[in-house]
Amino acid sequence: MRQKIELMITVLLLAGLIFASRKVSRYAASDNVKDVAGNKVVVDAGHGGSDPGKIGINGLEEKEVNLAIAQYVEELLEKEKIEVVMTREKDEMLSEDSGEKTKIGDMKMRVEQINKEKPLLTVSIHQNSYPQEEIKGAQVFYYTHSGEGKKAAEIMQESLLVLDDTNHRKAKANDTYYLLKRTESPTIIVECGFLTNAEEAGLLKQEEYQKKVAEAIVAGIKAYMEK
Ligand SMILES: [Zn+2]
Repeated sequence: MRQKIELMITVLLLAGLIFASRKVSRYAASDNVKDVAGNKVVVDAGHGGSDPGKIGINGLEEKEVNLAIAQYVEELLEKEKIEVVMTREKDEMLSEDSGEKTKIGDMKMRVEQINKEKPLLTVSIHQNSYPQEEIKGAQVFYYTHSGEGKKAAEIMQESLLVLDDTNHRKAKANDTYYLLKRTESPTIIVECGFLTNAEEAGLLKQEEYQKKVAEAIVAGIKAYMEK
C-alpha cells in the first residue's frame, strides 16, 4: 500500500514537472510574451483630447479617425466573442484627469494599462503623414526585438491588402516608439493611411471606409490568433 502511494506521488510529481517545463518553453519561444491569458486584445486609439495627432489635408484630425475605427474594431471583436479592452472610449488625453497633462504622461498611462491587462495582442490605431502628397498606403509597425510582434504585423499587413491591393508596403520594424518599447506583450501599430494624401484622407473621413478598415483589422487579429 505504502509503495503504491509513493509510486503515485512520484508519477504526479513527474507529470507536474513535465507540464511546467512545457509551459516555460512555450513562453520562452515567444520572446516578450510574458504571461498572456485568454484571448484578450487591447485596442488603442492613438492621441485624443488636446493631442489631435496628424492633421489631414482636408482638415481631418487623426485622433477622430483613430477613435472611430477603434470603436468599430471593438464592436466587431465583441461579436466574435474576443475579449476587448479599449485604452480610450472618448476624445481625451489619458493623463488629463491626473496632474500630468503631457503627451508622455498619456503614453505612460497607455503602457501601464496594457501591461496590467497582459493581452494576447495590442493593436494601436494611427494615421500617417508625409511631406510628399502622393505617398499613401497602410503600414504596420512592430518592435524590432519581438518575434510575435513581427508575426502579428506581417499577418496584419497582408490583411490590409483588401483596402488597396496595389499597396506594396511591408510590415516595418521599429525600436524607438515608446508604446512598442515599453509594452511587455506583443504590440503592433497600424497606420491605416496617409492624411496628407487627398485620396486616402477623403476615404478615411467616410464612415463606410472606416468600417472597412476595422473589418480588415479584425480579420488580421483573428488570423494572428489562429496561427
Ligand atoms: Zn498617430
